[in-house]
Amino acid sequence: MSAGPTLADLTAHELADRFASGDATAVEATEAALERIQLTDDVLHAFLTVTAEQALDQAHAVDQARQRGERLGPLAGVPLALKDVLVTKGVRTTAGSRILDDFRPPYDATVVKRLRDAGAVIVGKANLDEFAMGSSTEHSGFGPTRNPWDPSRVPGGSSGGPAAAVASGQAVLGIGTDTGGSIRQPASLCGVVGVKPTYGLVSRYGLIAFASSLDQIGPFARDVRDAAALLEAIAGHDPMDSTSLEDVPTDFTSRIEFGVEGLRIGVVKQLLPDDLDATVAAPVREAIDRLARLGATVEECTLPSFEYALSAYYLIAPAECSSNLARYDGVRWGLRVKDATDVVDMMQRTRQAGFGAEVKRRIMLGTYALSAGYYDAYYGQAQRVRTLVARELRDAYERFDLLVGATAPGTAFRLGELVDDPLQMYLSDVFTIPVNLAGNAAVSVPAGFVDGLPVGVQLVAPVLGEALMLRAARALERDLDLPNRPADLIPMLRDREGAQS
Ligand code: GLN
Repeated sequence: MSAGPTLADLTAHELADRFASGDATAVEATEAALERIQLTDDVLHAFLTVTAEQALDQAHAVDQARQRGERLGPLAGVPLALKDVLVTKGVRTTAGSRILDDFRPPYDATVVKRLRDAGAVIVGKANLDEFAMGSSTEHSGFGPTRNPWDPSRVPGGSSGGPAAAVASGQAVLGIGTDTGGSIRQPASLCGVVGVKPTYGLVSRYGLIAFASSLDQIGPFARDVRDAAALLEAIAGHDPMDSTSLEDVPTDFTSRIEFGVEGLRIGVVKQLLPDDLDATVAAPVREAIDRLARLGATVEECTLPSFEYALSAYYLIAPAECSSNLARYDGVRWGLRVKDATDVVDMMQRTRQAGFGAEVKRRIMLGTYALSAGYYDAYYGQAQRVRTLVARELRDAYERFDLLVGATAPGTAFRLGELVDDPLQMYLSDVFTIPVNLAGNAAVSVPAGFVDGLPVGVQLVAPVLGEALMLRAARALERDLDLPNRPADLIPMLRDREGAQS
């Protein structure tokens, strides 16, 4: 028998209503999330660090402030899972790597500060592929996360921890990062909403860098309104990040119910190719038909440069990572091997021991691509492709308000299925990568299920087109009306809640 939903199964706006009416407190909501973590995380392993004590203190402070009649932030008392690649003052931050096993940062990332100001309660640091390199969390230095819908399968990656946490009710909201698809692909595989914002909309200050020209921080949520509210809380200019945009729109909620009537939506052939697995293509096509029924004008279009995006990405991202990861040298942070004969020996052996195989592969690829004599042939050529992708997208937005396609080429795969086949693993992001190269925004929204596993549809917006994009996502979600309470849906949860009751 199921024990039924708890506060951990509600959305942030449902929780806000309960808090306002006095039917629930932030402490109760936080306890519900922590109980869910206790009940499930031995299997799911969505968290690397659970910050129960701090979370309860923070929730208590929210409740007291409410009692005193103080004005509260928009996410006051809502439990949140933070991908462990954002630094948190005094709280272990690993980036999923053994090289940062016991790193306690001296400051909070800007996003963390903004979350705290908004009242969100951070329940823990969530698992990821090492330095966000991967599509399954199997490259985490601390063991993989499992997919709540079927624990023999991966949750996607690299933000698999926060995605699985939100899908299973271990947290109501999540924060991930998306360099080539790491928010949207796990969102698709876990059946939640995941937003990759425009490059520069959300501050990267305090984000441990993978590929700086591509990395963006963004929300996970169980519905579009929550995702929009979370994006509002973290977006906006930050003088601490030189790539942070000034004068950006930060209202993503006030027009969210306005629908898609009259919007021009382009179906990108490269994001929904004829040879796409029919099981994934079917719910995506059905979602597109719905958008048309709801009043959007839907037309096909083709963006040929997208064919080269994956190849360009796997030169640019490793090139940038080889430079960003040079700082892990055993001198300043984290691991340092003992008994080194001299400083070079210490650095070499520290990096050898601390980095996993995938990270080493990327560093080697990137170093090679940047080396004298090859730079133009590889990195230079990849940058030209990047320019082409951005230009084709910009031109497409002269005809369309939004573009649409699949988020991922399949549903959640089994643990171990792709881990020894890097190329197949890289292909998981074939539909998400072009957006990172161009820097614009995209969202993955649940479109339906195939054999009990979720499938997402991807909406792609022009630069800073988040408000319109989330409006369309919300229209689709409203029309689909899929249930979103973990306790009613997730088989492992039903069994476990039942075992407890
Ligand atoms: N899976 C892609 C990679 O391995 C994207 C990762 C990401 O977005 N962080 O590089």
